[in-house]
Amino acid sequence: MNEAILIRSAAIEGGDTADILIEDGRIAEVGTGLSRSGARTIDANGLVALPGLVDLHVHLREPGFEASETVLTGSRAAAAGGFGAVFAMPNTNPVADTAGVVEQELALGEAAGYATVQPIGAVTVGQQGERLAELGAMARSKARVRVFSDDGSCVWDPLLMRRALEYVKSFGGVIAQHAQDPRLTEGAQMNEGVVSSELGLAGWPAVAEESIIARDVLLAEHVGSRLHVCHLSTAGSVDLIRWAKKRGIDVTAEVTPHHLLLTEELVRGYDARFKVNPPLRREEDVLAVREGLADGTINIVATDHAPHPAETKATEWAGAAHGMVGLESALRIVHQTMVETGLLGWPDVARVMSTTPARIGGLAGHGTPIAAGQPAELTLYDPSAGGAFSETDLAGRSTNSPFFGRTLPGSVRWTIHRGYATLADGELVDLEGARA
Ligand SMILES: [Zn+2]
Repeated sequence: MNEAILIRSAAIEGGDTADILIEDGRIAEVGTGLSRSGARTIDANGLVALPGLVDLHVHLREPGFEASETVLTGSRAAAAGGFGAVFAMPNTNPVADTAGVVEQELALGEAAGYATVQPIGAVTVGQQGERLAELGAMARSKARVRVFSDDGSCVWDPLLMRRALEYVKSFGGVIAQHAQDPRLTEGAQMNEGVVSSELGLAGWPAVAEESIIARDVLLAEHVGSRLHVCHLSTAGSVDLIRWAKKRGIDVTAEVTPHHLLLTEELVRGYDARFKVNPPLRREEDVLAVREGLADGTINIVATDHAPHPAETKATEWAGAAHGMVGLESALRIVHQTMVETGLLGWPDVARVMSTTPARIGGLAGHGTPIAAGQPAELTLYDPSAGGAFSETDLAGRSTNSPFFGRTLPGSVRWTIHRGYATLADGELVDLEGARA
């Protein structure tokens, strides 16, 4: 798996064309007219080379929910989407709230070999929101955890949130908050507004997200710590983050591809593929999160890849599970919503989908520039390709994508991870076969 690779004529972050020589897991050289005898040659004419994508927010479901996804199948989905690293949320069974569980997760990722799987630790024991988990032990473990989250649930208790923010300061950690007031969203089925009234579904008000963000940025300011806001979804949330940053508060925020594209109108069809937490919002929210991502208020795109087995979605709306898979479609959605609209260029895409998520998560060896001496983590993307997104584009275990049948631009052609191909000309590489 350590063969030399010579990528010919790739547009580096969409700009100048160059060859990239990869040897021993590193970028050996970037330049024109490179040659290397015995190297595997990739013709990248027309392809955009991006630093390998990094996703700060995925659910890999193992241990405990292997019918939905495993670390292996989820990291195969990552490779198919151009990702070289994913941060795995701790809402597994057992919950990743101890050094033992996060080290197990890390080992499963290493064994799979398709992407770096960086565990996120739970903030509270069992994600029960009652007492702090062993944050220090997880930070000191082999998994070197720097991001902590009770994602799926909100750290609602303000005193616990304050203590968590204080605790992670000592090792440069960050609390990633799923901002959702549980009392304001009891029984909620979709965004609260005109459509929820028409459909007679219990609404999920924007203020349930915004009130937690407002509180948490003030807590982060008060204790001088670092806060990350997961899957921000409303125009008001963008305003709050903009205000907090102007004030000098150390906060970062993410938006999902689906919140960049889809609106609550889709709920009218009662197709549970569109049921997600936080819910799809209004058109004006979609435009506001795009603008927030374009002006840097929102730092990154993260998928919130949330696999669920078909039977939990093929049911009536009220009983269906929340969540969507997103790894395989993410770059194409960002291309459509941000690049085709002129809001971001390819260097910005590299920043919001690779450099900055790696930095927020404190992950070494990822999000580095395409330059000699850097780790060989690369994504080669064909922006001129495109077509209807379908089940054949998925590589994970679950198929709950909201994008089937949609015409999307682009195609991820190659993913290079640690110097070897995990996706080759659009096909997943059989790494088990390669190791055998
Ligand atoms: Zn969440």
